[in-house]
Amino acid sequence: MKPSLSLRRRARMLLSLSFVAVAVAACGPLAPQRQATVDRMYVLYCGEAHIPDISPWSPGVDVGKPFDFSDNCYLIRHGDDWMIWDTGFADALVDAPDGVAGARGMRARRTRTLASQLAEIDVSPTQVRYMVFSHTHGDHVGNSRLFPTATVYMQEPEYDAAFGPEPERYGFVPSTYETLRANPIVKLHGDFDVFGDGSVRILSTPGHTPGHQSLLVRLPKSGAVVLSGDAAHFTENFVARRAPGFNFDVDQTRRSMDRLATIVEAEHARLWINHDRAQSLTIAHAPAFVE
Ligand SMILES: [Zn+2]
Repeated sequence: MKPSLSLRRRARMLLSLSFVAVAVAACGPLAPQRQATVDRMYVLYCGEAHIPDISPWSPGVDVGKPFDFSDNCYLIRHGDDWMIWDTGFADALVDAPDGVAGARGMRARRTRTLASQLAEIDVSPTQVRYMVFSHTHGDHVGNSRLFPTATVYMQEPEYDAAFGPEPERYGFVPSTYETLRANPIVKLHGDFDVFGDGSVRILSTPGHTPGHQSLLVRLPKSGAVVLSGDAAHFTENFVARRAPGFNFDVDQTRRSMDRLATIVEAEHARLWINHDRAQSLTIAHAPAFVE
């Protein structure tokens, strides 16, 4: 009888070990995978915003301090495929040189269209096979209509919020993304390996919105880069784990920042924070690209 007891104990141990492995994979570093890379990535100017008082984004500090946000889009080439991550403020903003008023006193503007930057590097919107948004706010989905044939990867909670009965509750403006209904949309439940070779991985980082996501991109010469989305809006907030009070879930946002920090460290990656203008000014924009 003793051997069978011991077997049962070993089985129990194995079960508990596999449970731990799953838990680590879900909240800690990524599971080991092939280290394929994309070919290149273009960082595109996708608008900018002036904010008279940044403190709603950094509760407890920066009261009355004006701030300027960058807004970038990222175009990734993988073999013959192209993928765009975020589409920025709508190109129509170029017709309003003084900018357009947004939430919390924000004034948004665009001095160049996304379409013109794609033309400059000779990429047609129909060549873009995948369109993925960090989330569904207007400064990220503004040009979603430019890519009607692209397949969209969206977390199911984000999809439900955007296309459910109360999109305004999450700060979503349906007119900025309504044409997505006609795109092929794949709903995700967590991380996703876009090309199946580990070169581009969508990271589930909810909190700013219900299905917010970030992106891990492996480049052949520069190594890994993590694109933050709005998990944090600028570096100081990421370091201090400060989350805007208007986020969908502040505690969840902090956990997502912790998760990104763990991944950045494990992957020896750089973290590019989309709205951090000071950092954005240090990154070459299209027609230049990073490899
Ligand atoms: Zn944003």
